[in-house]
Amino acid sequence: MRFASVVLDIPTRALDAAFDYAVPDEVRARAEGDGVGCSGGLIGCTVLVPFSHRQVVGYVVATFDEAPAGIDPARILPIARILASSAFDEPSARVARWIAREYSCPLCEAIRPFLAPGQTVKVRRADDSSPWELVCEKSGPVDERWVSLTESAADFEPRANASKQRAVLGALSQGTVRMAELSAMLPGCSATVAALQKRGVVSVERRRHVRGGEGTTLSSATASRPEHLTKGQVGALEAVAAACAAARGDVVVVDGVTGSGKTEVYLEAIERVRKSGKSALVLVPEISLTAQTVGRFRSRFGDDVAILHSRLSAGERFDQWDLARRGEAHVVVGARSALFAPLRDLGLVIIDEEHEASYKQDSAPRYHAREVAARIARERGCALVLGSATPSLESLERCRAKSWGGVSWTRACMPERPGSARLPKVRVVDMTEQFALGRKHMFSKPLADALQGVAERREKAVLLLNRRGFANFLMCRECGAVPECPHCSTSLTYHERTHTLVCHSCDRSWAIGTPGAPMRCPVCGSPYLGAYGIGTQQVETTLADELAGKGVTIVRMDADTTRGKGEHQRRLEEFDAAECAVLVGTQMIAKGLDFPQVTLVGVINADTTLKMPDFRAAERTYDLLEQVAGRAGRGERPGEVIIQTYWASHPAIQAVAAHDRDLFMSSELEERRDGNYPPYSRLANVLCWGRNESEVRRVLDGVASTLRARIEGRRGWEVLGPADCLKSRVKDRFRRHILVKAPVGEELGALLDACVREQDKPRGVNVAVDVDAYDMM
Ligand code: ADP
Ligand code: ZN
Ligand code: ZN
Repeated sequence: MRFASVVLDIPTRALDAAFDYAVPDEVRARAEGDGVGCSGGLIGCTVLVPFSHRQVVGYVVATFDEAPAGIDPARILPIARILASSAFDEPSARVARWIAREYSCPLCEAIRPFLAPGQTVKVRRADDSSPWELVCEKSGPVDERWVSLTESAADFEPRANASKQRAVLGALSQGTVRMAELSAMLPGCSATVAALQKRGVVSVERRRHVRGGEGTTLSSATASRPEHLTKGQVGALEAVAAACAAARGDVVVVDGVTGSGKTEVYLEAIERVRKSGKSALVLVPEISLTAQTVGRFRSRFGDDVAILHSRLSAGERFDQWDLARRGEAHVVVGARSALFAPLRDLGLVIIDEEHEASYKQDSAPRYHAREVAARIARERGCALVLGSATPSLESLERCRAKSWGGVSWTRACMPERPGSARLPKVRVVDMTEQFALGRKHMFSKPLADALQGVAERREKAVLLLNRRGFANFLMCRECGAVPECPHCSTSLTYHERTHTLVCHSCDRSWAIGTPGAPMRCPVCGSPYLGAYGIGTQQVETTLADELAGKGVTIVRMDADTTRGKGEHQRRLEEFDAAECAVLVGTQMIAKGLDFPQVTLVGVINADTTLKMPDFRAAERTYDLLEQVAGRAGRGERPGEVIIQTYWASHPAIQAVAAHDRDLFMSSELEERRDGNYPPYSRLANVLCWGRNESEVRRVLDGVASTLRARIEGRRGWEVLGPADCLKSRVKDRFRRHILVKAPVGEELGALLDACVREQDKPRGVNVAVDVDAYDMM
């Protein structure tokens, strides 16, 4: 180890290569003597190196003994010093290189996700004339306080209004929890914990080492383990075992209907991997990383679990991340970025709800967690499990082809729910018929009746308001104008409670008159402005009228009511605790919730997502409806689903009604094939934005013509645009884009990267390449 290859932390495409440096003896000794590093050497270390007459931060990605060919060893500059212990090893460095090429981003941007959270080191200077300074943003001290219930907790009954105490007690009922994790789940709970500690209900203990078996208060470590696995679960586990044994990155898609027990499959599979001494990584969508999910993993694996998600503070994230690096936790459960956790001896990667669009990162590096996970699995020779009730068409297509990217892709089906639970009956209500019958209400007759039934039987219901893309807006009944944001080309959303129009691109808002005063059209001045599209508040109000006096709790969950930290959790707990309740919400209530008392699911407007200008619109609608339908009938009582729509004949809706994915798939795949869309092609979005519209146009026109010249005559390639984005202005920036389609298996990222590099860009004009794009607005 006398030379090292270092990637500089300067995110420009021009300085993107790795540079060679000499390794002085003291630097080598420090790296090799470092007990916590990931690589056991210099690879993965953050270092300070001289570059172009100043010092810059960089990351070591390789080391070698011989001087690089053709360079005089005496002229190679030495590494100045090590700034941070190794955060990644050689296979991770290879994955980072792959990410940079595949998703067309500078190498240092692909490396950053692997670094220790909250330990950023930068070289900065205040202005052009002052000296460069090293700034370390180290996270705070590690919190080693553990909270658990005491014996007297069983007799303690919090006062009726002590909701915070209830929440804390609820979270602790699963077992001992690290204080840091508890405050992440229930922000601001430390005062509550202190109060409970005073009353002797909880104990707080400081320990350096994570428990070795003592003091487990895990209530349900065995109780939650089912007596028998279902046939589907056994089959899925066999497929996972085969993939683990192959040790080359084989993929198993666990295609299990909602409530079929996929989580149980994950738990079993992890247990087996742990028995063989290896570690496991589980990704779940951020939104379902609730106490419910965390509790299920904790109850099985206790303190062997580290949790990583964005609601943790930097210090807490570092703490959890470091548990994995030190080999003290062998199971990491986290959101998308947990993919980069420094687990040793990885044996299994699991992605739950793999179809979720949130697995695609929408800022650089714009990676898709599924693809990176597949790459990691190959690099490390472990298995990848993708679970969903509605797997993505990409994954299904790879399973149909049986292999992809040199490894095998297998689909394991779990078509049934365990025990007596059955998939709910689905009823589609055609709203045009309802209208013709003279019913102009937001609830159709069947849905209104079903809600009354729930109230009478003292059960629970979930009502989905599908509003992605089509929020509540105002339209002038005389001239048809819809108020738009003057800075972004987005329709303004009307908020009834505050009587304001809000722009959801830039967050500006305008008060319209004063409450009660007439509102006027911004174009023609007409007073006849009407609200189009309904909001959750409206549903809540109407529902309250319908069910007045019936003793039904109504809980609303949407972006507004869950903005505060911990609100999401609190509202779910309120719904859980109620005797009879209706949960009204947007997309965020559609997945992951497991409440056995829910017997009715209503979808108020199934069509809105179908009308979005996006080739995945139908797939998204199908996923959403199938997932939300799956919230019903998870317990002993049968469930019912009522879907209101103006488009009852659409295959996505028909497929949900019949629980038959093929009804949707056959027509959808045909359309995708005709249009040369994924999974039959790869698609990238090249986005250009800036304040100066003509420069934006010029730059993107240049990129487009370079690109067209390069792909000329190549089959299966297609370049669409340049065109204005659907959101053609955001925060006063003009936005234009090109869509590029390429045959599956082509190196799309590398080609686009080359085209963008060639184009000279004036200051203030930005170009981003988004490979396998999900959001093309
Ligand atoms: P999914 O993740 O597929 O939606 P879950 O893993 O949440 O399903 O399981 C649904 C419910 O079924 C849970 O309450 C779980 O405890 C229970 N369950 C899972 N497997 C079994 C089994 N083999 N026997 C009985 N109950 C099971
Ligand atoms: Zn008007
Ligand atoms: Zn705006």
